[in-house]
Amino acid sequence: MTNPLRDALAAGRFCYVVELVASALTREARLLEAASGLARIPAVVAGSITSYAGGAIGHDPLRVAAAARARGMTPNIHLTCVSQDRRGLAKSLDDMHALSLENVFALTGDYPGAGDQPPVFDLDSVQLVRLINERRRSGMPFHIAVAVSPFKYTEADCVYQYVKLEKKIAAGADVAVTQVGWDARKFGELKRYLDERGLRTPLLGNVYVLGPKTAERMATGRPPGCWVSPELLAAVQTESRAQDGGRQARLERAARTVAILRGLGYAGAYIGGTHDAAQIAWVIRRADELAPRWEALAVELGYGAAGGFYLPSRKPAASAGRVARSQTDRLPRVFDWLARAFPVNRDTWLRRALTRVFGWVDRRRPAAALVERVELAIKKPLFGCQACGNCVLSHLEYVCPQTCPKQLRNGPCGGTDQGRCEVTPEKPCIWVAVYDRAKAMGALDDLKTYVPPPDRRLRDTSSWINYFLDRDSRPAAGDLHG
Ligand code: SF4
Repeated sequence: MTNPLRDALAAGRFCYVVELVASALTREARLLEAASGLARIPAVVAGSITSYAGGAIGHDPLRVAAAARARGMTPNIHLTCVSQDRRGLAKSLDDMHALSLENVFALTGDYPGAGDQPPVFDLDSVQLVRLINERRRSGMPFHIAVAVSPFKYTEADCVYQYVKLEKKIAAGADVAVTQVGWDARKFGELKRYLDERGLRTPLLGNVYVLGPKTAERMATGRPPGCWVSPELLAAVQTESRAQDGGRQARLERAARTVAILRGLGYAGAYIGGTHDAAQIAWVIRRADELAPRWEALAVELGYGAAGGFYLPSRKPAASAGRVARSQTDRLPRVFDWLARAFPVNRDTWLRRALTRVFGWVDRRRPAAALVERVELAIKKPLFGCQACGNCVLSHLEYVCPQTCPKQLRNGPCGGTDQGRCEVTPEKPCIWVAVYDRAKAMGALDDLKTYVPPPDRRLRDTSSWINYFLDRDSRPAAGDLHG
């Protein structure tokens, strides 16, 4: 069976993927009608079927996908870590394979809103890509899309997005789709980042047909990770006073953005904000006309954050200027020193001795429980430890990943806003501290280390015992950087 998305990317043919929001608010029949219309546009190679968009439950994406395919539209199915653990995700992949659905968009997912089912977040998006890649190795021909947001205007948020994309690519991603944004410099920055590192993964730029209501919502940072600047909001509001309610102006902006993406060397556009086949066909035609003027148009598409961070050209993240040591906590450095002075991460006399001691402790339940309590009494006040039993503090600059509301282990999600957490905006995102400490130590490359999901069966047991008895889940030697 052919896969137009895979084929277009492989052939280097500029292509379009259109997002179909399978929310409970959209009637399924309307979605499928839209899919039928889009299937008649040759440049549209897939319809991207959302799951849990904005953290809200929608239609079953697999059912919608199968029905859309029956109407001639190749689906790209969003698979998020919000509501399923690794077994549930593996089962969804098996179901997809049984239905011959190949394209999967691997996402962490938005945190559910109040009143929705509590989230699962057993895996993060990098671990999910690995899971899909393992399935692929066993003969299921999945094509994996992942997300990245260049539209981050603090250094830690921005560079960590790119580092995390590198991890997703290493894990098996085939194509990366950007978050929504209206800043040509940022689109260019992401492309340049990959080019400078010799990464040829194709990029789809997000082109959202933005109306005034959505612009107002995004101006407040909702949904998480989507941001409209005050200048863009004002422009959209002015346009919406036209007789057509601003429809022509927003389609023109979308077409210009597509033209810029083509000029920058993107592999395609990921269109959101409209399902209307006639509007999308117009955007495609108009973008073709505008293509020769893309550089001038790029200068005009500049709705970034005033004074925001842009990654300097030809300056690999690993050698970016260091932050002053005084800005980082001293505690991580003390632990680093201890680890060097008393090496236990390789076969030393100390490791052998401690393995014997912890093996003896492990065979005596009261002693093991006591060690677990002592460990928690030390680590909870220092790191906010939640006794996951699979400690990866030394791989994450002594920041506990369990203090991330989504329990991510491989970097921030796309929901950060100026270094603040998507779920608890009153707090900084924990990954900012990880980034700052790594940068202060000149160890940004270490952030590319793949951190596997924890073995949840070890919860409320001592990670010290688990470590010395080699039963915890931690980065393998082959996944370590630096
Ligand atoms: S990673 Fe696990 S064991 Fe380590 S501090 Fe965090 S919760 Fe505790």
